[in-house]
Amino acid sequence: MAEAYVVEPDLDFIKEVGALGGEDLKKCYQCATCSVACPISPDTKPFPRKEMIAASWGLKDKLLGSADIWLCHNCGDCNVLCPRTAKPGEVLAAIRQYAIKAYATPKKLAEMVNDPTKLPILAAIPAVIILGLGFLLKLVGIDWLNIPPGGDEIVHSHFIHTTLVDIIMIPTFLFGVAVFALGLKRFLNDIHQNALLEGKTDKQKIDPVGFAQAFIRILPTILKHRKFSECTENNERSTAHMMVFFGFVGLFIVTNIFFVVLYGFGIHGPYQQINPVKWLANVSGVALVIGSLLMIKSRLDKKDQKSYYKDWFLLGLALGLGLTGMLTQMTRLAGFGGVSYTLYFIHLMFIWGLFAYTPFSKLAHLVYRTVAMTYAEYANRK
Ligand code: SF4
Ligand code: SF4
Repeated sequence: MAEAYVVEPDLDFIKEVGALGGEDLKKCYQCATCSVACPISPDTKPFPRKEMIAASWGLKDKLLGSADIWLCHNCGDCNVLCPRTAKPGEVLAAIRQYAIKAYATPKKLAEMVNDPTKLPILAAIPAVIILGLGFLLKLVGIDWLNIPPGGDEIVHSHFIHTTLVDIIMIPTFLFGVAVFALGLKRFLNDIHQNALLEGKTDKQKIDPVGFAQAFIRILPTILKHRKFSECTENNERSTAHMMVFFGFVGLFIVTNIFFVVLYGFGIHGPYQQINPVKWLANVSGVALVIGSLLMIKSRLDKKDQKSYYKDWFLLGLALGLGLTGMLTQMTRLAGFGGVSYTLYFIHLMFIWGLFAYTPFSKLAHLVYRTVAMTYAEYANRK
């Protein structure tokens, strides 16, 4: 016999889900149209109707430990068909953002990343770190931060030395990885316990080999954005999402290659435009910029869809990163030294922000959804 839940409503949870975009939650009268309409919901224990009732009862723990909230791709099909305009897709998106905050530590930083009034502080942190460390090192005779000399060639490392960039960025990147690792450990345990409790799996323990195999099986679905294509409303979002996704992937690959080339072979930039890795960097940068712009346009065009700070934070980060990266290069090639060095500095601030703030922002859905989809595949969720 299935175990019963002890209902412990969390009123703060209901309030915060409302503030994060699920303010129409209480309009739901459980007709289940949304679960029938959802093109990607499984046949057994489908979403999002059951999540709507759980959220309106404030069952925070049940929802945070549910892989199903991550299987939703926020296509909006259910929002359009809901007879009560309760916007179940938006409610699930709000619960996901709540979950990202709940699984990430330190909590203070999670609060800041999700609070628009703290944006100036978040933006200032990388600037203070880069300039502060640069000046401190100068005091001990290490000149890794300089007013670039005039001349024909613009070399960004003459302004901020590559080593200074790396000793700031590498620990920040590792910090982001550690935050994700700690959060995912709890997340995976929670979704497994939840699945056992709800009879969604008969596997008592997660077998790492089976889980890795499930990841390999689900990878083509993720890379090809197959779930997005199953949607009717907002189907066009799939292209823009894919551009942003592959933009990030491409730039990540490029960064790693240049890192190995620099420290493994001692070859410094700037690299020739005919370099194939440079092509990948340029294509990825353009994809990131265009994809972000398309997503922004789609949000602005949809008058029936509200956008929240979590959405603009993600889009601002993606666009800012791509745009400053591309403009830094273009102004360097055009010979606009001062502008190019300034843009480079801002670009570094965005990179730092990406590494440090991603585990707390909506962008973390890339990681959580991948794990949830892998788990659903592993547990043979149908
Ligand atoms: S969210 Fe809308 S469609 Fe879904 S069960 Fe509630 S009222 Fe029905
Ligand atoms: S937003 Fe789309 S994927 Fe999510 S529950 Fe609604 S119909 Fe399903």
